[in-house]
Amino acid sequence: MSPRGLARLPGAVVEGEALDAYSADSGPCRVRPLAVVMPRDAADVARTVRFARRSRIGVTPRGGGTGLAGGAVGGGIVMDMRRMAGVRCGRSSVTAGPGASKGRLDAMLARRGRILGPNPSVGPYCTVGGMLATNAAGSRSLRYGTMIDSVLAVEFVDGTGRLRRLPGDGALSARILGVARRTDSAAFPCTSKNSSGYRLDAVRGAADSARILAGSEGTLGVITSVRLRTHEAPRRRRLEVLAYRSILRAAADCAGLAAAGPSTLEIIDYNILRYIGRPVPAGTRCLLMVETCGAPARGHRGAVVASTRSGPEIDRWWRQRDRSLSYSIRAAPGGGMHNIMEDAAVPVARLPELVRAIWKVCAGSGMRPIIYGHAGDGNLHLRLAGRGGTAGMARRYFAAVRSLGGTMTAEHGDGTARAGYLRAQYGAGTVARFAELKALLDPYGVLNPGKVLPLRAA
Ligand SMILES: Cc1cc2nc3c(=O)[nH]c(=O)nc-3n(C[C@H](O)[C@H](O)[C@H](O)COP(=O)(O)OP(=O)(O)OC[C@H]3O[C@@H](n4cnc5c(N)ncnc54)[C@H](O)[C@@H]3O)c2cc1C
Repeated sequence: MSPRGLARLPGAVVEGEALDAYSADSGPCRVRPLAVVMPRDAADVARTVRFARRSRIGVTPRGGGTGLAGGAVGGGIVMDMRRMAGVRCGRSSVTAGPGASKGRLDAMLARRGRILGPNPSVGPYCTVGGMLATNAAGSRSLRYGTMIDSVLAVEFVDGTGRLRRLPGDGALSARILGVARRTDSAAFPCTSKNSSGYRLDAVRGAADSARILAGSEGTLGVITSVRLRTHEAPRRRRLEVLAYRSILRAAADCAGLAAAGPSTLEIIDYNILRYIGRPVPAGTRCLLMVETCGAPARGHRGAVVASTRSGPEIDRWWRQRDRSLSYSIRAAPGGGMHNIMEDAAVPVARLPELVRAIWKVCAGSGMRPIIYGHAGDGNLHLRLAGRGGTAGMARRYFAAVRSLGGTMTAEHGDGTARAGYLRAQYGAGTVARFAELKALLDPYGVLNPGKVLPLRAA
């Protein structure tokens, strides 16, 4: 039975097909919410969180619903943030409401010759709040970092319904820093991107405290406003597309290519390649796509199949690369386990070992791996063609990823898909620090229950 007063929450929808539309994100997780609310401002958010706390139901913030790990799906109140979409551009930063779409932000920044560093392949549909909450990255993060490197300040409603500001709230910053200092930084992966757990390793001083919201997936606070660093748009661009007869050879070239400082270094295997429909030498099994600020890519063994400085042509290649997820679904309809094993990363020098680990877990399973991703960051997206896939496969894969100094999720977050693997990733001591942080900001467990931390550890 729905708690009394639910229908009077801001913009509430409590029945009908609209609830079905909020029962999924872009991954396979399905849960029908009790209600959807659409706040207009931080006061609406605070009112909803206080109601949820009194009624003992969860609140799941939601942006564009493009997440892949089940983070924006919940059985309590789903809070659609897209009405809070104001954007104010400054000289080197932008302040945005959580519901501002990436597409709108890009268009406004482009008029000023600026860009936001993170650039998820999903394009314009994701929101600023969802991007911060997943610590989103994408192709350009090799040069500009992820959302954790972009966030300067954040305003959010905590699990008690109180509006907080970081780093502005000195007492709260100090308490977060206290938990960070008691956390073993050696438990964190040695990767350039990581969206697993809470990023206590990235909070090194009180001025950094806003970073704790990056990758928190709606479990520490509902983000109501965020100030992000922006960058000058590159004046010169060059894209080189390199063909390889083996994905291992391509993976082995990535550390050298990345060391030269390109803005992007992406990989697609032959499963994706056949949908792109560009001419490549016979026997090509893999492409690397390298964008630089003008210099040709050096120190590689690939065959150059395209080299262009034309902006529209470069953008055409990227649009095709950005469709990799849909191409992989076409190549493997109904593939298994992909929402768990789909986003691991290792230090880029160990990329060939990650490819071997994928082959090893797939061997004998009857499943064929489809691989693409952000190779310069050591981040491979994986879809498995064929029926099957067991939890044992994911456990073995993640054990191999950890042994390479890697993370089970570089940019998509733990969500519900990977929350159960958190203890294996970090160990009990670090998960206890995560639970301490959760208790500091959400003492009643109202915010997005079961995401990041599995329910029993929260
Ligand atoms: C085709 C495709 C390609 C993709 N490519 C990339 C890629 O290259 N790089 C990448 O990083 N990701 C990628 N993604 C994943 C996804 O686009 C990102 O995770 C994106 O940042 C999610 O934004 P969203 O607004 O859709 O968030 P949602 O899916 O709505 O939510 C994601 C998480 O954020 C939380 N959240 C949302 N809003 C708030 C808020 N205001 N306060 C607190 N928590 C909030 C939700 O509770 C949930 O846990 C891709 C997805 C698809 C479908």
